[in-house]
Amino acid sequence: MAIMEIVKHPSDVLRQKAEPVRKVNAAIRRILDDMAETMYEAHGVGLAGNQVGIARRLVVIDVGDGLLKLINPEIVRRSGEIVEDTEGCLSIPGWQGEVPRDKAVQMRATLPNGRTAWFDAEDLFARAIQHEIDHLDGVLFLDRASSVYEVTPADAAAGEESQETEADGAQTAASTPGES
Ligand SMILES: [Zn+2]
Repeated sequence: MAIMEIVKHPSDVLRQKAEPVRKVNAAIRRILDDMAETMYEAHGVGLAGNQVGIARRLVVIDVGDGLLKLINPEIVRRSGEIVEDTEGCLSIPGWQGEVPRDKAVQMRATLPNGRTAWFDAEDLFARAIQHEIDHLDGVLFLDRASSVYEVTPADAAAGEESQETEADGAQTAASTPGES
């Protein structure tokens, strides 16, 4: 496995709509493994293909319940109950925002073994899914946030102590932002 370089905003690839993966093969599984390693190394809770410069529909997520490697993830149902919470993003270091999202979503995705799986997600997990699938569509949390603010490393450290974090940018249930 290898650590990949995380693309930072502004970058064209972060604004691209990622292409679906047609065939799940060893190369795709290897990219997902590298993305997972990269996410953990950056202390994120999620990472999308665009964020490592690969505009394919690939996502890794771990909100504390184990690693998920997802291919062509799609939201198939939204709760319609909107909740606002803090998010950050590994591609937008130093910034956080308050972002309205559906409290719960149902997602369908292909797994590395080629099988299709459905997930019922709530709270942080649901938020991370929405944040990551937005990345695949070229959308950043900045586009959806009701407010955006700069955070100093000290602020971020204090936040981490009090709670926890999100994927590539999302955050925790209680209240600290995670980065996805
Ligand atoms: Zn992000």
